[in-house]
Amino acid sequence: MVNAIAKGLLLSTALSLLAACNDQETRSQIDLEGKTMGTFYSVKISGDIKISKPLLQQQVDALLEQANDDISTYRPASVLSRFNQSHSTDPQPIPRGMADIILTAQRIGRDTQGAMDITVGPLVNLWGFGPDKRAVKVPEQQQIEAAQKNIGLQHLKLLSDSRGEWLQKDLPNMYVDLSTLGEGYGVDQLVKLMARNGITNYLVSVGGAVSSRGVNGQGKPWRVAIQKPTDRENAVQALVDLQGYGISTAGSYRNYFEQNGQRYSHVIDPVTGRPITHRLVSATVIASTTLEADGWDTGLMVLGTEKALKLAEEKGLAVYLISKTDEGFSAVMTPQFKAFLAK
Ligand code: FAD
Repeated sequence: MVNAIAKGLLLSTALSLLAACNDQETRSQIDLEGKTMGTFYSVKISGDIKISKPLLQQQVDALLEQANDDISTYRPASVLSRFNQSHSTDPQPIPRGMADIILTAQRIGRDTQGAMDITVGPLVNLWGFGPDKRAVKVPEQQQIEAAQKNIGLQHLKLLSDSRGEWLQKDLPNMYVDLSTLGEGYGVDQLVKLMARNGITNYLVSVGGAVSSRGVNGQGKPWRVAIQKPTDRENAVQALVDLQGYGISTAGSYRNYFEQNGQRYSHVIDPVTGRPITHRLVSATVIASTTLEADGWDTGLMVLGTEKALKLAEEKGLAVYLISKTDEGFSAVMTPQFKAFLAK
């Protein structure tokens, strides 16, 4: 049994080539990097920069720390962890940003008919992909069914009144997992920070969620690369120019464990209670916010190539899907995605 995180594949690749695209750094470009949410963030800005690098670094770190304090299931004292630890079915106060994430998650959950479900936490933890990081093995069917009794978006209510936002569960053992949306949320927060500082040329990323606007230090549009889904070559499958939009990729090859020659991915189908088994290996989505893109990519991953493409076409989403075939890999994109391909 191997517990593996396959780096260099798929979504993480979207970021790996950014540096290469911008390697001739000029004086008018500032690059910041750091760790957050169990992954890395990057902030690149260019042009007429009025803020100092240390001050910007301070603001970025403070903002990402706040996001972790609000929605991390890896911090026992975060707002979300306290909600999960509580068995109360009374409404509990939550920050505005967390309410925005949950609102988006509820909508995408409905649109994907429950494929994207932020209450899937008990299953994520059971399969060993949660914060406990215990040794991973395939759970018993009984355990899966017991976990499934505590999931379902219909058991989670978002309330709002003059005092603020509230979250209420009607199952005492519910466990909300916002991991699939956190990176996108973090990027959107960074985008707002850029706007507050009057920065119009930026490329910001948290893990595999990215947003960019304007041009880099050489005056050229920022380019985000989607890499071919193989660890044997470092080749670009597609280059996109986001111009203010957000992009995010979900992949089944990045975080998984193997038992008896079978691979079990961290993307869980709430219907079966098990990791997905179909041939879709990555789903990349571009949307007006990175949070939106980050929510859809997981939902589409769960649905598989055919259903994902059908839904993307119905909803007019900008989507790029890579599937495994007997010969290798095949890619398909919607016309909306094509519009973002770098010229
Ligand atoms: P995505 O495809 O975006 O999401 C997959 C994840 O979503 C799964 O791992 C699971 O948690 C969940 N999921 C699975 N199936 C479904 C489904 N059907 N519907 C909805 N969700 C599903 N990791 C650490 O190791 N250490 C940390 O300290 C840490 N801190 C974090 C703090 C925050 C605020 C967040 C948001 C995440 C943190 N993580 C941490 C988690 C880590 O970075 C995750 O791997 C990452 O957030 C998941 O994103 P992804 O791009 O890998 O996968």
